[in-house]
Amino acid sequence: MPENNLVYDYVVIGGGTAGSVIASRLTENPDVTVAVIEGGPSDVGREDVLTLRRWMGLLGGELDYDYPTTEQPRGNSHIRHSRARVLGGCSSHNTLIAFKPLPSDWDEWEAAGARGWGSVSMEAYFPRLKNNIVPVDEKDRNAIARDFVDSAHGALGVPLVEGFNRKPFTEGVGFFDLAYHPEDNKRSSASVAYLHPVMDERSNLTILLETWAYRLELDGTRAEGVHVRTADGEERLIRARREVVVCAGAVDSPRLLLHSGIGPRADLDALGIPVVHDLPGVGENLLDHPESVIVWETHGPLPENSAMDSDAGLFVRRDPEHQGPDLMFHFYQIPFTDNPERLGYQRPEFGVSMTPNIPKPRSRGRLYLTSADPSVKPALDFRYFTDEDDHDGRTLVDGIRIAREIARTEPLASWLKREVCPGPEILGDAELSAYARKAAHTVYHPAGTCRMGAADDRLAVVDPELRVRGLEGLRIADASVFPTMPAVNPMIGVLMVGERAVDLIGGGA
Ligand SMILES: Cc1cc2nc3c(=O)[nH]c(=O)nc-3n(C[C@H](O)[C@H](O)[C@H](O)COP(=O)(O)OP(=O)(O)OC[C@H]3O[C@@H](n4cnc5c(N)ncnc54)[C@H](O)[C@@H]3O)c2cc1C
Repeated sequence: MPENNLVYDYVVIGGGTAGSVIASRLTENPDVTVAVIEGGPSDVGREDVLTLRRWMGLLGGELDYDYPTTEQPRGNSHIRHSRARVLGGCSSHNTLIAFKPLPSDWDEWEAAGARGWGSVSMEAYFPRLKNNIVPVDEKDRNAIARDFVDSAHGALGVPLVEGFNRKPFTEGVGFFDLAYHPEDNKRSSASVAYLHPVMDERSNLTILLETWAYRLELDGTRAEGVHVRTADGEERLIRARREVVVCAGAVDSPRLLLHSGIGPRADLDALGIPVVHDLPGVGENLLDHPESVIVWETHGPLPENSAMDSDAGLFVRRDPEHQGPDLMFHFYQIPFTDNPERLGYQRPEFGVSMTPNIPKPRSRGRLYLTSADPSVKPALDFRYFTDEDDHDGRTLVDGIRIAREIARTEPLASWLKREVCPGPEILGDAELSAYARKAAHTVYHPAGTCRMGAADDRLAVVDPELRVRGLEGLRIADASVFPTMPAVNPMIGVLMVGERAVDLIGGGA
């Protein structure tokens, strides 16, 4: 490729969930050129990726960056964080549960210094999304999931919800909305909805696949471009006339900044990485939605219909003062025993699971480098269950007790033969907490590592315009900019960040 082809108006690093939105929207203007640097291959024609129900087959496979966690003294040290290496990013890999963040989630961001990101202004971005967001289709509603919904309603008195995105809620049980095409169970991921319809037609959109960005190029305080390595090992500098937009996700965006000398001075010095810009917040504020699991054996095999094996869920508010729900559950129509098996439990042949989840976790972790070599994975220390008053641990204990109440209630009760884990003999707070934390897993929602905040907030990485503080020509737009975790699953929030980023960049159609 001749050298002069390597200059574009915008260079978008990461063709994932937010990156697909931004690249697609910016190139609606035919006078704007965009290069997308994507570490993975295309998802076009890949049935293993495009078929929603095959999501579990992607975990740990060739399209997964598969990040380990550091030792977690109060949690599960064996958790692997899947991050997708494919066009569409994690929206090509995930379960596509589609929740518009609650008004209280956006208002919390604004209160944390993200001026302009409050619920009233963010409302406009949800209708702009191009994804096909629909409730789990009737044909995909498994009989046992329907009975879970009825039992949770009966046991707890929470409202039955048909369409969680219709209005804000604090409690409720029902089938999820998903970003999918029910007729053939195909994804409506960010790449499917935003890139597939235009990627062969727009000459102003260049997608460089299997290309890894390893260091930003800065001239003084201005981002000029990014150094990349192609699949065949060639190194190139891709330049941006206007801006570099980093959309590499909550693990790889801070990782790229750190390898570019943008981050906490002492850490960079210790690794011998020349400091370009001392920005102490890079990698801090690592958030996640941890959850635990309670598993039952069923009397026999279950009906097979489903959208993706976890189609219904429950939200509870234990504390009436809390803004929004403070406990969530996914219901799995499978015995989800990967973590309990490590603790000695056995997977039943047929079974179901409920996974109590912490919507607003209080523990805060940290991502950091252990080597100046950009090919070495960063360390992810989530510091799970380390919050001072043990809000996070207690939430899981409450969750297991509530799950048992639902399981005792008809019509679900008749399906269930026995509780497999933690097991009916585990009753006390301390024992339940120990089990819940050691069997905990992630629903793969890392966020917050380049958090947005007020322009004078020392630990904020980007300002409310998503510009990296103290530098020019460089924005970040992905899950890393989340100041706090939404109470609901984050993908729609990430897509909305993408849509708003385009408004802030102002270079699109
Ligand atoms: C298994 C799983 C299930 C999930 N289920 C749900 C769900 O049901 N609902 C929900 O709301 N959320 C879910 N999530 C979370 C959600 O998918 C993510 O929060 C969201 O997609 C993150 O978007 P992003 O744009 O920040 O990053 P990503 O979508 O991960 O995009 C990052 C992109 O950047 C590329 N990249 C990274 N580094 C580089 C580099 N250095 N050079 C070049 N390219 C690079 C990657 O290949 C990737 O394409 C799930 C996640 C997973 C993994």
